[in-house]
Amino acid sequence: MIDGVDKTGTFYEQMPRNELESFQSKALIRTVARAAQSQYYSNKFKENGLDVNDIKSRDDIVKLPFTTKEDLRLSYPTGMLAVSPMEVVRMHTSSGTTGKPTAIFHSQEDIDNWSELMARCLAMAGATANDVFQNMTGYGLFTGGLGLHYGAERLGMWVIPAGAGNTTRQIMLIRDFGVNVIHATPSYAMHVAERMVQDGDDPRSLGIKIAVLGAEPYSEEMRLKLQDLYGFTAFNSYGLSEMNGPGVGFECPYQNGMHVWEDSYLVEVINPETLQPVAEGEVGELVLTTLRRKAMPIIRYRTRDLTRVLPDECPCSRKHIRLARMLGRSDDMLIVRGVNVFPSQIEEVIMQHSWIGGNYVIYLTRKESLDQMVVKVEIAPGAFDGSIDTLRYRRTELQHQLKDQVGFNVGVEVMEPGSLPVSEGKAKRVIDERGV
Ligand code: ADP
Ligand code: ZN
Repeated sequence: MIDGVDKTGTFYEQMPRNELESFQSKALIRTVARAAQSQYYSNKFKENGLDVNDIKSRDDIVKLPFTTKEDLRLSYPTGMLAVSPMEVVRMHTSSGTTGKPTAIFHSQEDIDNWSELMARCLAMAGATANDVFQNMTGYGLFTGGLGLHYGAERLGMWVIPAGAGNTTRQIMLIRDFGVNVIHATPSYAMHVAERMVQDGDDPRSLGIKIAVLGAEPYSEEMRLKLQDLYGFTAFNSYGLSEMNGPGVGFECPYQNGMHVWEDSYLVEVINPETLQPVAEGEVGELVLTTLRRKAMPIIRYRTRDLTRVLPDECPCSRKHIRLARMLGRSDDMLIVRGVNVFPSQIEEVIMQHSWIGGNYVIYLTRKESLDQMVVKVEIAPGAFDGSIDTLRYRRTELQHQLKDQVGFNVGVEVMEPGSLPVSEGKAKRVIDERGV
């Protein structure tokens, strides 16, 4: 409670498990009834011979059809709108990382709920109305900007809508206004830190206390490196525009996986091939159903993100389940010489070395019908001691470690700091020139 008003949905946040589940059952029934108002779901339910009255509890979720990104694209622009256009107050789209973006609509109530979730996440991380928050991600159609912005305002924070890029200005604003909470993609946060180090400055001198880092996959090693550089505590933040955007999954101060706000999302983890639920705690594709959204409810959305539900209750006493750090999207998986590799596996190895910077690219080519993988890394600013022999030794050591990780030879190219392209939003980690 803040000022006597439940701005962060504490009521939901503290629900005992049994109440949470019975709330979900009621919310699912309402969601299905609302969805049936859209052209898309009304047709889909008819095709599947589904009577909405058959949905009586959360366990009936399995009777409902899945929704895919393709379904959203096919119903573009407004086929999934479940209310009169009069009720829509905002739309967003996905970033379009994997093709044509999808459009998502929000009513005023939806924006209020989303802001409540975001405020809840920030409060859980320890942010308060006394803190100054700088939002360092893109605004506009991308959900990370306005999503965090509204949440931080709801919490009563002093908000600086810096947007992405313009690193010099970002640093100036942080200093001049005593910013102590930031939101950025991990790759951009890394870039800012390295720029400072390169300029002989220390990111710790900024005094940032809390960093909300998300919108793209990153490894635990990357988190540790960033925490070490800045001296802040970094909270993993997961979301996708189809489910509003950020505010779906967020870490508590135990930093042991992301709590999913189950008052707003029903979670399933399935085997993407059989579409059946995986065994408890196994890795699979995350499937989410909106439980509180009005303008555009989405049922059993196949996120393509791979993760698992963590066992055991969190010591923080919240009963909302926790998800492990995302392994990546199923379509991020590279098949190299028949071996399945996720960029995050490569990142895990790279980030263990303090002499390597935080930016990297995985470069794939094909030579005489054999796949070649070269990992391009940068020397960390200030880490080169002038000895080429040391550098050679380090490169060979890294090559061995990468081979141990993936099982085939991986080339390593070591570059000067600042050589690789910088991303202000989601980093592009893979360049695949193998053709089809
Ligand atoms: P697009 O799907 O076009 O990239 P979005 O901006 O909606 O557009 O991105 C959502 C996706 O970003 C998620 O499905 C997931 O793959 C990725 N993502 C977001 N947050 C995280 C995170 N904390 N860890 C890993 N991946 C994330
Ligand atoms: Zn917790």
